[in-house]
Amino acid sequence: MPAIFQQQCLFAVLMVGALLLCDVSISATRSGDNSRQAASPVTVVIDPGHGGHDRGGIPGQRVAEKDMTLDVARRLKTLLVKSGYRVVMTRDSDVFVPLASRVAIANSYPNAIFVCIHFNSARRMGADGIETYFYNRDSLPLASAIHYFVAGGAPTSNRGVRRRGYYVLRKTKVPAVLVECGFLTNPTEAAYAQTASYRQKLAAEIAAGVEKRNDVARGTTAARVATSESIPLQPYIDQTRVAKASRHRYKRSHRKSARKKKSSKPANSEASTDSKRRES
Ligand SMILES: [Zn+2]
Repeated sequence: MPAIFQQQCLFAVLMVGALLLCDVSISATRSGDNSRQAASPVTVVIDPGHGGHDRGGIPGQRVAEKDMTLDVARRLKTLLVKSGYRVVMTRDSDVFVPLASRVAIANSYPNAIFVCIHFNSARRMGADGIETYFYNRDSLPLASAIHYFVAGGAPTSNRGVRRRGYYVLRKTKVPAVLVECGFLTNPTEAAYAQTASYRQKLAAEIAAGVEKRNDVARGTTAARVATSESIPLQPYIDQTRVAKASRHRYKRSHRKSARKKKSSKPANSEASTDSKRRES
């Protein structure tokens, strides 16, 4: 065998060997990932807001929030299951599930993330936009990621990532986020929400946020990501012990405000209707 040919053969053997080694190491990494995932799969607990006698939204609201949240949640579940996540729904039908039960479900999976889906409402029809809430600091990356995709994909205003002590966010021991997918009291957003393709789009954006939560946290995807320092904790009223009384108070105040329809309100009060229930 001529020396030059021998050298070429040796080179070829080395190359094949190197490629094989590469392949072995890649498949080792893959199987390592798989076994890691198999050992502790991420469970996404999806929490469709309201249900049963709790319609969500404000009295007289035409589109029931509970139906929209459940539909988006089901679509999100399908997408996440396809991507290999284990998915648990806090409700999968039109039933009322107390907030404490929702939290207990989330907390029963140590390696879970908790995604609450809501739509907003306000007495001012013009109120619009997407907002995403978190409470614990370790929930911020997930909140930023979900908000980045949902607000980026929705044809409406960006109301930002907000920190607030809603019951479901305060009591969960796993990263927990609540996304408000737009205002059902806004005619344009309500019309969007009532189309299946838009609800599918919302689900796809939330799923993208879940899947890319670590990229967004590292800042590799987006510049428009909030830091915890930039988000002050918003005040909330702890109504845990007075849920019934607060409902009465709420009805009374609604009748009162209906009488005073034309009175002006501070801009910040417009999104508080849904919030009050979630805080209890
Ligand atoms: Zn709601």
